[in-house]
Amino acid sequence: MLLSVVVPCMNEEEVLRETNRRLIFILEGISLSFEIIYVDDGSTDATAELLRDLQAHDPRIRVVRFSRNFGHQIAITAGLEHSSGDAVAVIDADLQDPPEVLLDFVAKWLDGYDVVYGVRTERDGETRFKLWTAKLFYRFIRKLSNTRIPLDTGDFRLMDRRVVDALLSMPERDRFVRGMVSWLGFSQAAVGYRRAPRAAGVTKFSLLKMVRFALDGIFSFSILPLRLATWTGFTASALAILGIAVVVLGRIFGMPGLVKGWSSTVIAVLFLGGVQLICMGIIGEYVGRIYGESKRRPLYIVDERMGFKVQKQREPRSLPRKSAAAGD
Ligand code: UDP
Ligand code: MG
Repeated sequence: MLLSVVVPCMNEEEVLRETNRRLIFILEGISLSFEIIYVDDGSTDATAELLRDLQAHDPRIRVVRFSRNFGHQIAITAGLEHSSGDAVAVIDADLQDPPEVLLDFVAKWLDGYDVVYGVRTERDGETRFKLWTAKLFYRFIRKLSNTRIPLDTGDFRLMDRRVVDALLSMPERDRFVRGMVSWLGFSQAAVGYRRAPRAAGVTKFSLLKMVRFALDGIFSFSILPLRLATWTGFTASALAILGIAVVVLGRIFGMPGLVKGWSSTVIAVLFLGGVQLICMGIIGEYVGRIYGESKRRPLYIVDERMGFKVQKQREPRSLPRKSAAAGD
């Protein structure tokens, strides 16, 4: 039986050697054959050369290199597509997910579970902001979505081949992998682990990327924001009808002071304008996603594959030599 380990990497030159060393050490202790699939997500540092070197020395290592940065979730998807294991694990390149936990994952998988996911019981070396926003996010999305996405779970997990195939049959572009795996069902087990600080380097998730990721999660797994827009509309209309009733009754019974207060009119106009724009933005968010899907572009473009059995070697790029006769 074969175990595949997918490692998405973007500019991880500082940790990759250590990551590879620890992964291989752990994997050699498990009595399964294994392959490690590194997905180079458009790195601009020495990651590509490093992977090339690691691959040249170990046939169990395979490398998929993207033509540019396509994002963490897409890199994971590409790794899964290129895997051939009976079980496939996904692990970050920065050693925040300890490779030792893979032992527990495999044990649970052998027990018969189809998905084994890591739950972060503690997170070391993260900013308080990140801890707080992550905690809030997982609880928020749980409230919003019908899909039960386990709390404090990332992409560190092991999946049976059946689950991987099912996951890959989901064609959507906005891939919130942890949510998609929950949506799939199957028998799932949790393994608690302590999330370590990054072994070296810095996080590749800027605030903007994190916000985008969170929005992907929310908009791909819930249409509640659309409903919210409808309910806000109803509430605003109800308030307006109430206002009309007050004004009409005021006119009939001659309530003083009603014509005053242009500021309340302005406030009402501004408020309604704001609500309308927000609702349009929410609708726009979904329309934009439909637009993205309708283009049917491939999820990612591969520049190079290394270590796979069927592979087309790239010819070195050079001009054909001039023959001596054609020359001088
Ligand atoms: N990563 C990636 N593409 C990206 C951003 C990140 O493949 O566009 C990889 C990165 O190399 C790492 C993993 O995704 O292996 C998690 O990223 P990171 O550790 O920077 O995120 P954090 O743990 O800080 O949330
Ligand atoms: Mg990390």
